[in-house]
Amino acid sequence: MILMTGLPDVDGAIEAMDLGALTYIKKPFDPAVLDAALERATKLAALARAKREVIDAGIGGSAASSERAALTESFERALASLWVAFQPIVDGRTQATIGYEALMRTREPTMPSPSHLLDAAERLSRIHDLGRCVRGHVAATFERLGGARDLLLFVNLHPADLFDDQLFDRSAPLSRISENVVLEITERSAIGDVGDARGRAADLRRRGFRVAIDDLGAGYAGLTSFATFEPEIVKLDMTLVRNIDSSAIKRLIVGRIAGLCRDLKMRVVAEGIETEKELACMVELGCEYLQGYLLGRPAAEPTPSGFHW
Ligand code: C2E
Ligand code: MG
Ligand code: MG
Repeated sequence: MILMTGLPDVDGAIEAMDLGALTYIKKPFDPAVLDAALERATKLAALARAKREVIDAGIGGSAASSERAALTESFERALASLWVAFQPIVDGRTQATIGYEALMRTREPTMPSPSHLLDAAERLSRIHDLGRCVRGHVAATFERLGGARDLLLFVNLHPADLFDDQLFDRSAPLSRISENVVLEITERSAIGDVGDARGRAADLRRRGFRVAIDDLGAGYAGLTSFATFEPEIVKLDMTLVRNIDSSAIKRLIVGRIAGLCRDLKMRVVAEGIETEKELACMVELGCEYLQGYLLGRPAAEPTPSGFHW
């Protein structure tokens, strides 16, 4: 914090220091004075950050810091060998593949699943780097496909990605194909309450993106996210899909949610469909879009579903 004033006095200066101001600049001032103050502030902030990281890693213990250094190295290798798998999403009415969900993968052996990558990124405060890398790959794949006009690409966001300015940058690779992108938001940490998530989602929509709520029914995303994000699409978590053919309660819940979504003009995707019985139930209950191993596994190249019923 740097304070500037045209009316300097000792009491004011003392109060500024009490409030934690780094320095106190008198107006009018020479830009070089401001430059010097900013440079000092930047150095002090970097030092404070480094100190905090050491403390977070465990009171400067050398075992903890070497563990962190090893994690950083694995994470760098994971980013360098990151690739994206694509799983088909099928229209239940026409049985045509309308798009794909992009799912991150890496060749780094210590990070065999997205949760390992996401954990590492969280611990290293590198969520934005990971999100940007995935979005770059997705945009490149779309361009390689020749930019099919009606194709939708579903891209997962970490809650922190909503606060990455690059996502909102109109010249970013994904922004250029925003009309073909559905951003999936999962509410692992009740992000509806954090910052201005609602305003951010509205901003993304103005940039041409569509918004989906992911994992509805998994215990993360609740119905309040309908009001917060006003999503175009709602993805039902696979826990609601699993063995739905033998659960009257699941059928009742899915039927009611699908009805609510119809009233609100939201499309429903059923995720994780593994059996023909699950598929038949989800179609009958009014889920427009279908996704799961039965219809197609995630693959390195976007491959349309070959399953018909
Ligand atoms: P999600 O977004 O709910 O993705 C669906 C997960 O279900 C994927 O797991 C997919 O491979 C898996 N799946 C699809 N169909 C079936 C099925 O029929 N049966 C079963 N058992 N599983 C099925 P995956 O790829 O391991 O991803 C796990 C989670 O990691 C994702 O859940 C998502 O939350 C997160 N994730 C994946 N890629 C990204 C990414 O690029 N960015 C972010 N922020 N998160 C990602
Ligand atoms: Mg998803
Ligand atoms: Mg999901």
